[in-house]
Amino acid sequence: MGKATGFLEYEREEGRVTSPLERIQNFHEFHALLPMEEQQKQGARCMDCGVPFCQAGMMIAGMASGCPLHNLIPEMNDLVYHGNWAQAYVRLSATHCLPEFTSRVCPALCEAACTCGISDAPVSTKENERRVIEYAFANGLVSGDPPRVRTGKSVAVVGSGPAGLAAALLLNRRGHSVTVYERSDRPGGLLRYGIPNMKLEKSVIDRRIHLMEQAGVRFVCGTDIGKDLTGEELLSRYDRVLLACGASQPRDLDVPGRESKGIHFAVEFLSHVTKTLLDSDFSKLPDEDVKGKQVLVIGGGDTGNDCVGTAVRLGAAGVMQLEMMPQPPAERLPSNPWPEWPRVGKTDYGQEEAAAVFGSDPRRYQTTVKEFLADENGSVRSAVLVSLRPEKDEATGRLRMVPVEGSEEEIPADFVLIAAGFTGCEAYSADTFGVTISARGNVDAASDSCATSVPRVFAAGDMRRGQSLVVWAIAEGEAAAKAIDESLMGYTNL
Ligand SMILES: Cc1cc2nc3c(=O)[nH]c(=O)nc-3n(C[C@H](O)[C@H](O)[C@H](O)COP(=O)(O)OP(=O)(O)OC[C@H]3O[C@@H](n4cnc5c(N)ncnc54)[C@H](O)[C@@H]3O)c2cc1C
Ligand code: SF4
Repeated sequence: MGKATGFLEYEREEGRVTSPLERIQNFHEFHALLPMEEQQKQGARCMDCGVPFCQAGMMIAGMASGCPLHNLIPEMNDLVYHGNWAQAYVRLSATHCLPEFTSRVCPALCEAACTCGISDAPVSTKENERRVIEYAFANGLVSGDPPRVRTGKSVAVVGSGPAGLAAALLLNRRGHSVTVYERSDRPGGLLRYGIPNMKLEKSVIDRRIHLMEQAGVRFVCGTDIGKDLTGEELLSRYDRVLLACGASQPRDLDVPGRESKGIHFAVEFLSHVTKTLLDSDFSKLPDEDVKGKQVLVIGGGDTGNDCVGTAVRLGAAGVMQLEMMPQPPAERLPSNPWPEWPRVGKTDYGQEEAAAVFGSDPRRYQTTVKEFLADENGSVRSAVLVSLRPEKDEATGRLRMVPVEGSEEEIPADFVLIAAGFTGCEAYSADTFGVTISARGNVDAASDSCATSVPRVFAAGDMRRGQSLVVWAIAEGEAAAKAIDESLMGYTNL
């Protein structure tokens, strides 16, 4: 512990955030970093607790508490405090191979479990992490880790999201020849075409891909496994295959009028926006469908928030976001004590922006759509909303949300985005290998061995655990790399 009284002396400080009205003028990141000396003080706030829950990454009350990668957080924070940035990078890399992504988009499970957070603001570990990795990039400390010796073994990774990238990086570092197959035109998975550019600049992905290519990883984009190449073909060419195709099957709405024009799935919309921006080098705004429209976003989660922020940037005339569940409390309830993940309400960037532009928070809780109404051209023009109330399901004992009779209300909506979650992986990517899929729609594989029901085929990331977080995808990719290495070499030193 660098400074015994750091947590008493220094307040939590974060890098400057551009104001909502200013940042919606473009699609660029808006979180600046603190100056180096200020960041060091933030490292000094870490108390190096005897039991650092921040790095535990364990399940408590069914929710993850602490960092799933088990980053050595107190050690990294101490090195930050001492300004030993190079060594801090070494510590961070011991557990984490892609910190430039989590330090931008992670919900910071570490900070929710920080001891400082019991009575005060938690240590800003996520920003410390970003300062460390950006220092490392700026000072040429990050390489693609080219191996000194090649093992003569080959691995195909299907899917280039964070799980596939983490696995490919480690397997290549170990000396195996790695080819990553991606059906999209660019690598990155949801990092590229899902998470909007203002949350994660796509140049951050390109920077990493470039290093990985230099180190020998081969990326084959525009190739859809199960359509352009079969599972059998891949297994005949490679010693091992890792399936990391994500869980991109969107949950739909089964209501009258759903077939109307102008109703889209969230990721389809977000991908189209990012692709247009990237293809035009940020000179073209894909605003033709959204500008001047009343946008309705169905789904109160992070994806819905990304849709709100994107619609605001594209000039929507109004945005409403529906959430089926009741509004969460502002502070932890006694039934949800530290270090459990806090089930509290938060206002994310998109909601802040909508409030700044339209004067109020766009969210409506305990509400869903009962029906869409279309105009004479078949384009959606309005939605009939209905309020919901919680009711105990006698069979399961669980609460479910049921419609409140007579609460129907018609609102104008001429552009609708469905962000209601995902139901699992797309079956064809699994079926081409014949791997078993669970009742929840994910590939059946144990979390440690990552082995599927088919020999030599492994699975990781959202495709195995269901739609989750970038930090979990990276943890899964790292675990899969170890399992594959062990199966190839008889042991692993990854
Ligand atoms: C809109 C949105 C915003 C999000 N924001 C956050 C956030 O802020 N923070 C956070 O932690 N998490 C966020 N998430 C969740 C996070 O992005 C995912 O959990 C994570 O990307 C999963 O990684 P993955 O590698 O398992 O799969 P993915 O990132 O989904 O990548 C899978 C890749 O496989 C490719 N693929 C699929 N099938 C095939 C095939 N047959 N052949 C070839 N390629 C194939 C796909 O094209 C894709 O590129 C968000 C998710 C969404 C949808
Ligand atoms: S990866 Fe996420 S949970 Fe882990 S230390 Fe970084 S910000 Fe915290």
